[in-house]
Amino acid sequence: MIENRIKYILQDNKRIAIMGGTFDPIHFGHLIAAETVREKYNLDKVIFLPSGNPPHKDKRRVTSKEDRYNMVQMATASNKYFDVSRMEIDRDGYTYTIDTIREFVSVSSKGTDIYFITGADAVYDILTWKDADELLSVCRFIAVTRPGYNKKELEEEINTIKSNHKCNINVLEIPDIAISSTDIRQRVMKGSFIKYLVPEHVEAYIRKHAIYQNRGGHNE
Ligand code: ATP
Ligand code: MG
Repeated sequence: MIENRIKYILQDNKRIAIMGGTFDPIHFGHLIAAETVREKYNLDKVIFLPSGNPPHKDKRRVTSKEDRYNMVQMATASNKYFDVSRMEIDRDGYTYTIDTIREFVSVSSKGTDIYFITGADAVYDILTWKDADELLSVCRFIAVTRPGYNKKELEEEINTIKSNHKCNINVLEIPDIAISSTDIRQRVMKGSFIKYLVPEHVEAYIRKHAIYQNRGGHNE
């Protein structure tokens, strides 16, 4: 079930982006990526979509869905162009992006463009996502550059995908922000600073709820 607020966003706007992620935790790399794409593509809204139980992240314990959602909400609240959907965190079992996108498309008004923002790394496994062909054909993908991923190689990968699949993928160069959630979790475990890597409210939440202190998060 789509939240009413999100439904209205999809009905009332023509240029909407989805920013999917585990957000464990959300950091300035995500926020700068989303805002840069929003400005460049003149988007009406960016809907952050924290993942539920992503099949590919089984190898490590992921922080509870509610904690991740709360942190995304805190981090995005001050930007009028940003919103957050609970669609995936409220779904039981494994969650797949395509299921959410289908629902979003079904309520959006005719002529709405749905963009999907990913970092460079996600491009390399996009074909393993459920119903990748359908996903690639209904969303316009914006692959933002990310430190550690060569832009030329990224473009070559995208060209290979384009030659075999009906899709619309563009690369957008954004400021290099060498921040990852993995590094933040490790920093908390080691006792290193995370100030300037995540918004202040997010840091306060992590400290208050003692997230990442021993083993990178707790299961639900
Ligand atoms: P983890 O280390 O746990 O994988 P992450 O920092 O990669 O965390 P995710 O939640 O996996 O964060 O990422 C969500 C989306 O944001 C992905 O498409 C990812 O490529 C992109 N992204 C994350 N960090 C950056 C960054 N610093 N610059 C550009 N894109 C980023
Ligand atoms: Mg990642």
